Amino acid sequence: MSADVPSTSDGRRLAPATRTVSLGRPAHEPDAPLNTPLTPASTYVAGGDVEYGRYGNPTWTAFEEVLGSLEGGRALTYSSGMAAVTAVLDLVAVGETIVVPVHAYQGVLHQLGDRERRGLLRVHTVDITDTAAVVQACEDAALVWLESPTNPMLEVADLAAVAAGATSAGARVVVDNTFATPLLQQPLELGADVVVHAATKYLAGHSDVMLGALVTRDDATFTAMDEHRRSRGAVPGVLESWLAARGVRTLHVRLERAQANAAELAVRLADHPAVSHVRYPDWGAMVAIEVAAGPMAADLLTRSTALWVHATSLGGVESLLERRRRWKGEPDTVPEALVRLSVGIEDVEDLWADLASALASLPSP
Ligand SMILES: *Cc1c(COP(=O)(O)O)cnc(C)c1O
Repeated sequence: MSADVPSTSDGRRLAPATRTVSLGRPAHEPDAPLNTPLTPASTYVAGGDVEYGRYGNPTWTAFEEVLGSLEGGRALTYSSGMAAVTAVLDLVAVGETIVVPVHAYQGVLHQLGDRERRGLLRVHTVDITDTAAVVQACEDAALVWLESPTNPMLEVADLAAVAAGATSAGARVVVDNTFATPLLQQPLELGADVVVHAATKYLAGHSDVMLGALVTRDDATFTAMDEHRRSRGAVPGVLESWLAARGVRTLHVRLERAQANAAELAVRLADHPAVSHVRYPDWGAMVAIEVAAGPMAADLLTRSTALWVHATSLGGVESLLERRRRWKGEPDTVPEALVRLSVGIEDVEDLWADLASALASLPSP
């Protein structure tokens, strides 16, 4: 069951860009506020549908309405992206196998490794660009975890083909859609069962919120996830939900600008002598470069910019960069000199001038 798509007065279905702006608001009534109010509440007057603060909140619902509509399902929000990841993994029975990309968000890989060491599940890693291998691995798996593009290698999966193959092999398909956002890719439409989001990133978009979400169109899965959230308690904060609902209003314009900036920078970086390799899938706003002079020069690059901020995370209005292997848990198939760029919405010439001058200051390879 997909969420109803609202329409204009003459019946035209609202485009995703319009839905980011107009959903999740109070009904148009005299003196109604345009925005859903912040409702701090640990309990409600008895006799209604919600009853208690851990079971629901109108401010969560506002953001869930927007995200659910964009992804084509029903959304539940969590206290962080990892809380949403945990909720999905908890649905897998003990002893089952999970198929996972070699490269994925480090927190996900870490949690899977931890569950595997504790004997809770088995992990089978795959190259997600090899559709046949992924589908074959799904034969004896309960679930396939997909991230596309992957962090930080920016590999892209054929989601429709993988989802079809995995589904007929009997595996549930989960897609972490954080990097793409529902404006660039709708995994449920492509056959996925559950979509995961770190709303912390593009959806909230201003580097000031921790929030996660799951979206599904399957009622039984939705109910199981809702019950899990009630009982485990990883519920979102009311301020965070409000900020995310506010942030998502501009998702389409932020993404449009960030993507245009990323595409332009990827072309220029490919020609820069200090850069030996550029990874960019030709869409989205994440770019990964390899610094020709090696990992120490890559570290120097991250300390040499004035506008680009040396910080982890992504998807905010401001441009960030970091050398991924500075994190101990990053897979060793990620090149040591790889610097991940989260391209923001600043003026592209300012971004280029800052980056090009920092690159030019590096020792030669
Ligand atoms: C950040 C991120 C997460 C985890 O989200 P948090 O809000 O930091 O817990 C999961 N997946 C991807 C792809 C991410 O970028």
